[in-house]
Amino acid sequence: MTHNIREYKDVWVFIEHDNGRIEHVSLELLTKGRQLAKDLGCKICAFTVGDKVEIFSNKLSEYGAEKFYFVENPVLKEYRTEPYRDSLLYLIEKYKPEIILIGATTLGRDIAATLATKLDTGLTADTTALDIDFESDAKNLLMTRPTFGGNLMAVIYCPDNRPQMSTVRPGVFQAIKDPVNIEKIREEFEFFEDKIPKKILERVKTESDKVNLSFYDVIIAGGRGIGKKENIKLLEDLARTLGGTWAVSRKVVQMGWAPYSRQVGQTGQTVHPKIYIAAGISGAIQHLAGMKSSEIIVAINKDPHAPIFDIATYGIVGDAIEILPRLTQFFSDKLK
Ligand code: FAD
Repeated sequence: MTHNIREYKDVWVFIEHDNGRIEHVSLELLTKGRQLAKDLGCKICAFTVGDKVEIFSNKLSEYGAEKFYFVENPVLKEYRTEPYRDSLLYLIEKYKPEIILIGATTLGRDIAATLATKLDTGLTADTTALDIDFESDAKNLLMTRPTFGGNLMAVIYCPDNRPQMSTVRPGVFQAIKDPVNIEKIREEFEFFEDKIPKKILERVKTESDKVNLSFYDVIIAGGRGIGKKENIKLLEDLARTLGGTWAVSRKVVQMGWAPYSRQVGQTGQTVHPKIYIAAGISGAIQHLAGMKSSEIIVAINKDPHAPIFDIATYGIVGDAIEILPRLTQFFSDKLK
C-alpha cells in the first residue's frame, strides 16, 4: 500500500530511556535530525513513551528539539514491545512524521522493526549517513549503510511510503547542544494490562549484562597499566566519587580482569562523556576509536611518549596506581 506522502511532515527522533536517563544516541540523532529538518524546512521533534518522561523536556530542548510528543502511563514503566508499539503507533498515526530516526540499540532495533511493519513502511537498519535528495520532488531521505560485509555502501530510499524510518548505531553522529524553546504535547493512551502478553516479574542484573557506558558523563577507564584485576577497584572508587562509571581497554578484558561489557573501542562501546580519564592506557588507534570525541580527556601514564597524550586535554605523567586513589581522596574531600 502506498501512502499520501504529502500528508507527512517533520523529523521525529525516538527518545530511548532507562531509569530516568536518556540514551545518548537519542541526543546524537536530535543533532542529525535538526540538520535534516533545516534542509526540509520543517520541525525537529522528539517523541517517546514511558512512566515519567515529561522530565526529559529540558534536556531535549537543550539539544534542539522544537516539539516533544509523549505518552505517560505506569504500564510503560519497563520496556515491553506491545504497549510501547501501540502507544508510539498512536502518536505516529495521529501526527504523521515524514522521517523517524531510532538508535540501533537492542531496544531500538526491536521497536523500529515492529513499528515499520505496522506502519507498512520501509526501515533501513544501521545507517551510517543520512542526507536529503534535493533532486526528488518529495525530497526523499537518502539512507546509506554498508552492505556485502562492508565492501559496498548502499544508498537506500523509500519513495512511496511514509514515514521514512532508519536506525543508527550509537556514536555515528555527534550530540551537540543547540538550545531552543520546546513545545510539549502530551497524549493519553488507554492500556489494558490483561491484553499485554508479557509480564515483567523481576529485573535481574548479572555481571555479564551489557553496561550502557554511553549513559555516563564521567568515565574512568583503565588499561593494562593498572597492573592487576584487584586495581579495577581504583577505577570504581573514583567513578563512584565523581558520579560516573568505569571502563577498560581490550587488553584488560583479554587479561580477564574485567568483562567485555566494559570495553571501550573499535570492538567495544563508543562513548562521548564530558570527562574520560584514561589510566594506564597506551592510546592504540582501536581504543581511540571508541572515546576520542569525549569532551575532556585526562590521560595518566608512566610513559611521557604514550600516544594517548597526543589526544589528551590534560596529561599526568606518573603511576596510575598512586594517582587514582589520590584523585578519589581529593574529590571526596571537595565534594563533601
Ligand atoms: P598497552 O598497550 O599494553 O598499554 C599500557 C599502558 O600503560 C602503556 O602506555 C604504559 O606506559 C602504561 N603504564 C604501565 N604501567 C603504568 C602505571 N603504573 N601507571 C600509568 N601508566 C602505566 N583495544 C581497545 O582498547 N578497544 C578495542 O575495542 C580494541 N579493538 C581492537 C580491534 C582489533 C581488530 C585489534 C587488532 C585491536 C584492538 N584493540 C582494542 C587492541 C589495541 O590495539 C591495543 O592493544 C589495546 O588498546 C592496548 O590496551 P592498553 O592500552 O590497556 O595496553
